[in-house]
This record gives sequence, structure tokens and C-alpha cells, in this order.
Amino acid sequence: MMGKIFVLSSPSGGGKTTIRKHLLKQCPLVYSVSWTTRPPRQGEKDKEDYFFVSERAFKRKIEKSEFAEWTRVLGNYYGTPKEFLEKEIKKGNVLLEIDVKGARQIKRRYRKQAVLIFIAPPSLRELKKRLENRKTENRKEIAQRLKLAYQEIEQVNKYDYLVINKDLKECTGDIKAIIRAEGCKL
Ligand code: 5GP
Repeated sequence: MMGKIFVLSSPSGGGKTTIRKHLLKQCPLVYSVSWTTRPPRQGEKDKEDYFFVSERAFKRKIEKSEFAEWTRVLGNYYGTPKEFLEKEIKKGNVLLEIDVKGARQIKRRYRKQAVLIFIAPPSLRELKKRLENRKTENRKEIAQRLKLAYQEIEQVNKYDYLVINKDLKECTGDIKAIIRAEGCKL
């Protein structure tokens, strides 16, 4: 296997989607589009942001062991298609944007290729503000996501790198530096 699997995790609202879009323009990476049973948010595109699928289709894929990892977050299923990932790492680097549980599964399964990067918001107060500003969740959902964020931040020691997203440009720059350095690693 030639490439690395760069795994980005951050609490919902932590800014990883914007960072991902910047990275894909600037780095030699292919993005692995996840499957999810969550309904699309406004502006999200099928096959680009996620493959939006039914629970039945998702479970069928689990039964056939076609996910490299999968998990359930706040009642919805999310998973990384195995075939695409394994085909792409033979050619180069792959970027995954997945949660903490998924990241651990990837590390266990692809120990030599996986590089885990946690993107943390500057504070939980800032995260709350970002979630409120994006106006895609109601108050209850925001509270659930903040609780989950707290639990995820506690898992940061499982990661190889921690990057604080205080400033988008700086944060993207740090991740680009990690990708370059990993490319030079013996
Ligand atoms: P959201 O619904 O906000 O897009 O995503 C909720 C959480 O699921 C985020 O932490 C996101 O990174 C994670 N997620 C998205 N795709 C996958 C996936 O394929 N596998 C896992 N384990 N988590 C995912």
C-alpha cells in the first residue's frame, strides 16, 4: 500500500468540512465519501458530501462487510466504504472525515497507513456559538452535539496530532504541514 489515510475528526461544528474543502484543493488527497442514513442538510449534495442512503441499504452493506468502519451517531448510521478506500490507498493518500469511534477502528485495521488528526475548537463556548450560527440544528440537537463534543475531546489522546481551529488559514496550514511531514517519514 502506497498512501496514507489521513483521518480528520472534530466535534460537529468544529469546522472540518470547510477545512476538508481547502485541503482537497491544496494537497494530494482523495476524499472518501461516507455513507449515511442522516437526511441531507440544506446545501449538501448526494455523492459529494455523503451517499445519502436508507437504513435498509446501510444494514445490507454492514452484513456484507463492505465498510472499513462504521458507527452510529445521534441515531444515524455513518460508514466508510471499504472497497474505495483500499483501492485508493494503493495509489496515494486518502482523506476521511469521521468520528472518534470510526477513527479508532481505522487505526486498528490500517495501523501503518492511518494518521489521526483531531481538530478542536478553541473552546466549547466557541463551538456552541458556531453551532448556533449555522442554524441547521434546533436547541435540543445543539445540546446533544455539545455533550458529544465534550466526550470526543476527552478521547484526544488516541490521536497522532491535535490542531486547534482558531483561525481557518492557520489550521489548514498546520494540517498541510502534517501531510507533508508524513509524506517524508521513513
Ligand atoms: P454530521 O451529521 O454532522 O455530518 O456528522 C456527524 C458525525 O459523524 C461527525 O463527527 C462526522 O465526522 C461523523 N462521520 C461522518 N461520516 C462518518 C463515517 O463514515 N464514519 C464515522 N465513523 N463517522 C462519520
